Parts: sequence; structure tokens; C-alpha cells
Amino acid sequence: MPGTQQDNPHKRDARPEFWQLSMRCCQLAGAVDVAFFFIFLLLGSPILAWVNVISVAMYVYAYRAFAQRRNRLAIMLIRTEVLVHAGLGTVLVGWESGFHYFLLMFIPALFVTMRARSAWILVACMWAYYVSLDALMWYIEPLQPISSNALLAVHVFNLTVVFGMFSYLSLFYVNTVTRAHKRLARMATTDSLTSLFNRRHIIALTEKELARHHRRPSNLTFMLMDVDHFKQINDQYGHDVGDRVLGGVSQVLKDSMREQDFIGRWGGEEFLAVLPGADIEQAAASAERIRKAIEVLVVESDGKRISVTISIGITQYRAEELLSNAIARADHALYEGKSAGRNRVEVTLI
Ligand code: GH3
Ligand code: MG
Ligand code: MG
Repeated sequence: MPGTQQDNPHKRDARPEFWQLSMRCCQLAGAVDVAFFFIFLLLGSPILAWVNVISVAMYVYAYRAFAQRRNRLAIMLIRTEVLVHAGLGTVLVGWESGFHYFLLMFIPALFVTMRARSAWILVACMWAYYVSLDALMWYIEPLQPISSNALLAVHVFNLTVVFGMFSYLSLFYVNTVTRAHKRLARMATTDSLTSLFNRRHIIALTEKELARHHRRPSNLTFMLMDVDHFKQINDQYGHDVGDRVLGGVSQVLKDSMREQDFIGRWGGEEFLAVLPGADIEQAAASAERIRKAIEVLVVESDGKRISVTISIGITQYRAEELLSNAIARADHALYEGKSAGRNRVEVTLI
């Protein structure tokens, strides 16, 4: 349900699902009112039937206003329609018609769409309106009474629509929150440039793997990789091109991993891969494949073809040791690889 957003395209674009939902609500509410038009015609209450024609017109207008990004106008139309329709339906047909249930849909909608203080004030106003309507109907007779069977039919119809709309909106809110949660989780665990896990997350995953290893020891190998002479790429082609090269390298690394392996960006142009279940020979073979794949990688930029190489240090995890120890060993192997001329795989068993 809509709130008090300004007619501001930035706000609208910031929450596209919300505005889509508002437009969908216009369609649903309009369709319900078309149904009401025929229901009241059938029940022999033409006045009520024509009230619904006005309602449908208001929803059509509100829908078009949303499409033209005139959100304030659209929201005002919808609110007026719901308030007047619920009030009028109740006064004309009686409290038992259940038209007042539609007013309850304002409660979550107000809290979702505006600041808490404003929402509380408007909810208090809604409460006053709702209670006044209830109290009024204790003292006056409906102005356009319908037969008790017809009243029951309208009552059940209204209840059904309110149940349906509440369920639809609840599902929408849950989906929106879940999607936002997933997006935040992805942002918190992923490095934006390379789309690999970030350092914090790769450490968290590795700690979990170590806990598993402590319960049931098995082979576990670490691979630390560093792009060779990467500073020269930046110096020669610029930082943006350097970023593109890092992206290309990361994609190759990701594609080279097995299902059970995980890889993250350890630092600038350094990557850490963890290979559960792989012994040192398997890891070395895998590292050699990676080294070759990077060697033949070509990143094109402004007609230039850029190639890089990578050095890889490998070590096997030893029972009960700290993660930092194992990483330091892999780093040492990497350093050996750099000293020995780069574009190499070095294994350390020390
Ligand atoms: P070596 O072969 O010894 O590893 O040499 P290197 O030039 O790769 O190593 P060095 O540590 O001297 O330089 C790493 C460079 O990586 C310096 C830094 O500017 C660059 N770098 C780090 N992170 C990024 C990044 O996100 N994007 C780009 N474009 N460059 C980065
Ligand atoms: Mg480097
Ligand atoms: Mg480095």
C-alpha cells in the first residue's frame, strides 16, 4: 500500500518494487470494485453500484498517475477512495457489510511507508475514524439496507478480499526483506571488483573448514597466488585497465576451482584458495593448470592485448596449527616462487 513519498523520481527509482506493488494494488482494487458494481446491480442497489464506478475511475486515475510518476496524487486518490468507500459502504449497507475491514489495511501500510511518528499519528486518526463509524452504526440504521442473504454475501466477499490482499501484501513484504537481506549478505561477503569472496569471508569459511578438519582430519591444502609485476600493468596502462586485468584473472581462478574448493581475494592482486580433500600433489597439479591458464589469458583494452603471469605458493594444513601459520607457509612458498623468477608453482612442506 502506498505512503507519502514525494513526486521524486530518485525516491521512486530507489524502490521500484514498492511502486510496482502500488500499481498492482490499483489493478486489484479496481477489479474488486468492478465486481462490486455487478454484485450491487444484481442485488438491486443501483446507488451502491454507481459508487463503485466512481471508485474504479479513481483507481484508473491513480494507476495512470503512478505511471506518470505523480506518486503523491496517486496515493492521495487511493487513500481517499479507501476511506470514503469504507465509510459510505458501512453507512449505506451497515456495519455487517464488512466494508470497514479495508480500513485495517492502512495499519501496516502506514508503518511501512512513513516515519514512525507520522504513522502513529495517522493510525490514531484511523482508529478514531474506525471507532466513530462503529459507534455511529450502533445508533443509526443503514441508509440503503439490503436483504440479510445479500448482506451475508457482501460480508463474505469483503472478508475474502481483505484476506487475499493481506496475504498478498505480506508475501510482498517478506519477499522484499528476504531479497534485501540476500543482497546485503552478498555485499558483505563478496569483493565488488572480482566477485570473489572477500578476505573476511574467506577467513570465516576457512575457520569452518578447520573445525570440520579437527573433528575428522583429512587433506586440506592452501594456495596463495599473486599476480606478477602487477604494478607495471597499472603504471603502463592505468589503474582502470589494471582493474579489468584483475577481473579477468579472477574469472580464470573461479573457473579453475572444483565444487568443494573456495577462493577469495586475499589482498590487492593476491588470492587465497582453499582445497579441502586435496593432497599436495593434486593441489600442485591444479596450481599448474591455473598458472598455464593465466599465462594464456589475454585481456583486451583499447586495441592492446595484455597478458600477465601468476606465482603460486602451496602448503598443506597440519593438524591443530593456527590458520595464520599455514598461510605464512604458503606465503613463504610464494616468495620462493617470486625469487626463482615468477610464473611458477612452489610447494612447501617445511
Ligand atoms: P610482484 O611480482 O613482486 O608481485 O610485483 P607486483 O608489482 O605485482 O607487486 P607490488 O606489491 O609491488 O604491487 C602490487 C600492485 O598492485 C600495487 C597496487 O597498486 C596494485 N593493486 C592493488 N590492488 C589493486 C586494485 O584493486 N586495482 C588495481 N588496478 N591495482 C591494484
Ligand atoms: Mg604481485
Ligand atoms: Mg602482492
